[in-house]
Parts: sequence; structure tokens; C-alpha cells
Amino acid sequence: MAINTTGLQPGKGADGENNPPAIPISSDVLSALSAVSLRCVECAALYPAVEPGSSPLPRYRCICGGVLDVEMPFNLPGSFATDDLPPGAGWRHLFDERATGAPIWSIGTDKELLNTSGVWRYRELILPAPEAAVVSRPEGNTSLYPVGRENCGPARAGHRQIGAYAGLERFFLKHEGENPTGSFKDRGMTVGVTMARMLGANAVACASTGNTSASLASYAAQADMRGIVFLPAGHVAGGKLAQSLAYGAQTIQIAGDFDDAMHLVEQVCNELGIYLLNSLNPFRVEGQKAIGFEILQQLDWQAPDWLVLPAGNLGNTSAIGKAFRQAYELSLISHMPRIASIQAAGANPFYRSFKQGFAHRESVHADTVATAIKIGNPVSYTRARRVIEESNGIVEEVSDAEILAAKAVIDRSGIGCEPASAATLAGVRKLVANGIIKHDDFVVGVLTGTLLKDSKTGIPQEASGIVIEPTIEAVRSVLS
Ligand SMILES: [Zn+2]
Repeated sequence: MAINTTGLQPGKGADGENNPPAIPISSDVLSALSAVSLRCVECAALYPAVEPGSSPLPRYRCICGGVLDVEMPFNLPGSFATDDLPPGAGWRHLFDERATGAPIWSIGTDKELLNTSGVWRYRELILPAPEAAVVSRPEGNTSLYPVGRENCGPARAGHRQIGAYAGLERFFLKHEGENPTGSFKDRGMTVGVTMARMLGANAVACASTGNTSASLASYAAQADMRGIVFLPAGHVAGGKLAQSLAYGAQTIQIAGDFDDAMHLVEQVCNELGIYLLNSLNPFRVEGQKAIGFEILQQLDWQAPDWLVLPAGNLGNTSAIGKAFRQAYELSLISHMPRIASIQAAGANPFYRSFKQGFAHRESVHADTVATAIKIGNPVSYTRARRVIEESNGIVEEVSDAEILAAKAVIDRSGIGCEPASAATLAGVRKLVANGIIKHDDFVVGVLTGTLLKDSKTGIPQEASGIVIEPTIEAVRSVLS
């Protein structure tokens, strides 16, 4: 089988032999990664980012089976580290200076590219990659829309309808659907594919409900790597499937659900030495932290009271929560926002666990119109549980009807989003109605994907059925 051409050492090849890597890891990569460790979230065992020896054997899980979390020291560049500044000011100056750099259309060097990325702008807190190794579009720099009744100006009266629906005065929506492939997944993927490149891989794979595969396909193509994606057949929105195919990824549809696809891809990556880029991959979570850093920077480093987001595989809950904790520890912000993770009622294992004080880890057979969060056994459960506990957060569930009603409000405001993203607004509305979020709380909600990802679910199709004669009379009769 010609598939094993990755350069990564297979854990256990089909022939039972371990092949040496085709591309050795360069000394600057080894030195960059020497300060990075991987900590098991279950048993706290610690591993180096690259295992000793010359073979770049990637590790995705602890020997106990637990998922791994990246740990590294944060070193503020010398010119920004002065004793006479208040705590956190050096970091704020560094990131603010980078954000005022050259505009995107005048990129001339890799250094400018890194500063222009909404992920690599925060690189000291993400991954110490050599600059030439970074695979970036760039990504991030997504809009933070003011949509509350109070913080929304007259030229955005349509957007204010969202704040009215939520019942909030100060409300922002962070639209991660404005990333290069239309979802927040690009933030993790730029880091994951960069890591694959640093390790000498030439094939990467993931299982996905669609957004991750679209992002992987795009970044693999940019880096001239082979991309392989596993999708649950019949459960992926058309726009996402089209992206994987168009970007040239080998697209394998599994006659099962996401959880089946996830199980298979992990097995096949270990067997064939393909670099795995699911949210199991700890470096993708590091890239997704940049959503949190960018929100804080857009708010001039004022932390909101609440951060509300859709919850499926729980990578985003883990990543944004981790970013806020690190920002707090570095004195970038003065308090931790509370995190509210919103699940679809038909795919609510995290909600079920939360309701029993996380006494048991639940799993369900997932069923919801919000395909991006249609996940019954989330990989990042333990990381996300820690975030909810640390942030005094909450997990809520909303019905498909509530999701579609909220989506209609976001769509009609002119902003638009894919169905799973609307769980955010449905959840905010429910938490405000229940008195958990107060009307005057300062709230940021995350929209994870663009409207174009799914052109059918929750969009009135009957309007497209009207065809009239090309006469002014016919037009008048329709508009009157
Ligand atoms: Zn462990």
C-alpha cells in the first residue's frame, strides 16, 4: 500500500517493522521544541514534545490512554521585559505593536506574515516554531461584532436585533466563520500542520464533521502535503465536503457516525505513521487558544463577564478556557471570564455529566441538525471539564428548534452563521431568561462557522422557488 510515505515512524506497521524517518528533524526544530512538554490530563505524566532519539515519533495519548496538554514556559522578548512596567504591560505592548504592523496585502517576508496572523501574533504563547517552518494563510483577525442593545450603533440597527433577542445590553459576537476556510478550525490547523512539517511528515489526516477536514485539506495543500480526511457518510454539510474535495484531500466517507470515524483515524495514523490532526492532537488546541487572546486584544484587554460558545468535541471550550487562564496568569487581564458551553439537546454528553457534578463521564448517540457539534463522545472532555470548574462556568443544552430560531435571528441581522454556531445565541437567551446571565453582564459569544458551510439547514428554501416572467408588471405584482 503506497499510503505509508510520511517520514514518520509507524508505531506498528502492517509488516510489523518500524521504518526510520525519511526526513530527520532539524536541529533548530529540536532546539525550539526542547522547552515544550506534554502533560497527561488524566494521570499528570509528563512527556517531551519530541521523544528522545532521532525518530520523530509523535505522541497523541499518554500510556494510560489520557489525552495530552501542551506545557511550556512563556518568555517575553527582552526589549519588552522591563521592571518599571505594571504586570502584563510588556505582553500587551508586544501584541499591540504586532497588531499595528503592515496590512495583509503588503506581506513581503515571513516575519510580517507571522505578525499579520491572528494566531502567530501570539506565538510566544502558542508554539516556539522556527519562523521559516510556519504554515499560515494568515488566519484569524475575525470580526468582533457589537450586537447588544447598548453597544450597537444606529448604523447597525439590524445587528441590535441579536442583543434584543438575547436580552443583553453589552453583547459581542466573535465570528470565527471569517477565517480563510470559513471556520475557527484554521486557528488550530495552522499550528498542527506547522508541527507536522517540523516533524518531517508528508501526510496528515483527521476525522471530522466537516470543518476540520476542510481546514486540513487547505493547509495540507498549502504545505504540499498529502491530506486524508475521514467523514461520516451522509452527515456532512455540502459546503464542507466540497471544500475537502476541491482542495484535493483524499476524502474517505465512513458508513458510520463521527465517533466511528474518529476511532478509525486514530488507529490508521498509528499503524501507518500519518500525522494525526484531530483535536486529540495537543498542538491544535494551542492554536485555538488564539481565539481567546484575539478577543481580549480586541476588547483592549478588558475581560468580559461571560464567554459563550457551542460545545461538541470540546476542543474549543478547552482552548479558549486555557487561553483565558494563561492571560490571567500573565496579568494580561484582571479576572477570569466565566465560560458557558452550549450543547445541542440531542448531542449533550457534556451537559449530562455537568448536571451530576461531573461524577460520571457520559456518552450518547448524537442526533441534531447542528452537524458540527453532533458528537456523542467528546475527545476533550477532561480538558473542558477543568475549564468549566476553573472558570466557575456552566454547561447548558438547547433544542434543535431553539438553535434554528436563533440562527434565523443571526442570519436576518445580516451576519449569518452555520447551524451549530447559533447554539451560542440560543444558549445566551436561555441563560439570560433563567437569570444566570444578567441583562447588564458583559458577554462575548463565539460563532464558529460561516453561513456558506450549510446552505440548506434552517434557511427558507421556498423563496428560491419563485420565478416570474421578465416583465415590469410581473415584478410589480410580486413586490406589491
Ligand atoms: Zn496518563
